[in-house]
Amino acid sequence: MDYGPAPESQQEAQAWLEQRGRTFGLFIDNAWSEAGELFASTNPADGKPLAELTQASEADVDRAVAAARRAQPLWQGLGGHGRARVMYALARLLQKHARLFAVLETLDNGKTIRETRDVDMPQAARHFYYHAGWAQLQAEDFADYRAVGVVGQIVPWNFPLLMLSWKIAPALAAGNTVVFKPAEFTSLTALLFAELCLQAGVPAGVVNIVTGDGRVGAAIVKHPGIDKLAFTGSTEVGRLIRVASAGSGKKLSLELGGKSPFIVFEDADLDAAVEGLVDSIWFNQGQVCCAGSRLLVQESVQERFLAKVRARMQQLRVGAPLDKSSDMGALVDPVQRQRIAALVDSARAEGCTVWQPACELPAEGAWFAPTLITGASTSAAVAQAEIFGPVLVAMSFRTPPEAVQLANNSVYGLAACVWTESISLALDMAPQIKAGVVWINSANQFDAACGFGGYKESGFGREGGREGMLEYLTPLSEDARPAAPLAQAQAKPKAA
Ligand code: NAD
Repeated sequence: MDYGPAPESQQEAQAWLEQRGRTFGLFIDNAWSEAGELFASTNPADGKPLAELTQASEADVDRAVAAARRAQPLWQGLGGHGRARVMYALARLLQKHARLFAVLETLDNGKTIRETRDVDMPQAARHFYYHAGWAQLQAEDFADYRAVGVVGQIVPWNFPLLMLSWKIAPALAAGNTVVFKPAEFTSLTALLFAELCLQAGVPAGVVNIVTGDGRVGAAIVKHPGIDKLAFTGSTEVGRLIRVASAGSGKKLSLELGGKSPFIVFEDADLDAAVEGLVDSIWFNQGQVCCAGSRLLVQESVQERFLAKVRARMQQLRVGAPLDKSSDMGALVDPVQRQRIAALVDSARAEGCTVWQPACELPAEGAWFAPTLITGASTSAAVAQAEIFGPVLVAMSFRTPPEAVQLANNSVYGLAACVWTESISLALDMAPQIKAGVVWINSANQFDAACGFGGYKESGFGREGGREGMLEYLTPLSEDARPAAPLAQAQAKPKAA
């Protein structure tokens, strides 16, 4: 088996960056603008610069919104089948260039190539295929709805292309046009996606991509030409967006943070639960909104289970993200490492036990070892705050009601896992946990056909499935609704 780095794939990504002069403008109205005020995008695994990107100004956002407004009636007028044709082309192009996208994402974000290649890319293509299907069905299934209009979409850095596909695919399927802002740390795959839009025949103005930091997001949020905002990111920024858009009439969906419980009962298959836990908290270095970051394990098996967890952590390979044998890569940026380290230090200061396996981390770049914290009180900062890193906080419970109480002891409500061999116990637990999704004897199961979203401070609105489509549609008013044939016949006065 080939476990070495992937030099030929790296060359392809580096060649793409070289061809573009490692400098990018904005993608507005199917044209690249001249690069403006620049900021650097770096590879977090070694701290080296990858490219220079443009910090969009308010005037740029204005141009992007104007282009999207002009394009929207035309895009909607194409009809569901016309839009589906373009979206299928996008999906196929994502598959065709999957290797290039995967390597570019790994270079830009620090996540492992195994993840970008096996999870992010197939899921991103799947979102376009799935939503192209909805576009085709729109005439029948959503006959009483129309597109919302122009949508402003803002995403974080943890799944850059996947979040793009979660946002852009349903918006386009419903007949909207978009102004999309990737996160400032990870914009490169969005810029490569812009090139696919040109190849797939996406009409001018339908997809506009503006890069930059939170100021660009704020300009999108307050722009009067935007009809709907779709945001994925931190609860703090979600709150700012709620305040800034209140009273504006803009439709809003927010996918925010989480502190998801991973509940293990004494009768669970403990080895399977350990593997689920690895997937839940160490996948993508724990930078996952629905990461199972709070382990709740039944007291009777606590010691046995934690011993298995430590043994498994010892085997996790942290290293070069492009190496196919790495289980964990780099964090997205040194800023995140400092945030995570500060939270772990606070746990030490509160008397918790912090355990990390012996692992040698690369000297350059943003790295953090997998970490297990025990002995935390339920009110400790590490037990309540979203750490967004490879840090598991373990606590115990005695009875199912206590497990429910602990699981719900959070301001968040995004996801949960329940591990038990008793299906009746699992089915009893699931509806008592306030979370958008409860996985039983599994973790991180996603599909484009299944709505995903949160309760409480994890936000509102759903992405994926039929409910996700409805976020991008608005009911036709009574007078705009085409009259049903029967009603027409009844309304016509009969000739005498
Ligand atoms: P963040 O909120 O700092 O940034 C997210 C995006 O918002 C970025 O593009 C950023 O530039 C932009 N932004 C920043 N300030 C803004 C403002 N004032 N107005 C408008 N836009 C602004 O979040 P992050 O650190 O990039 O991402 C991590 C967070 O995202 C975590 O809390 C995580 O849980 C959450 N997340 C949630 C989901 C979900 O589906 N619920 C999925 C992925 C990530």
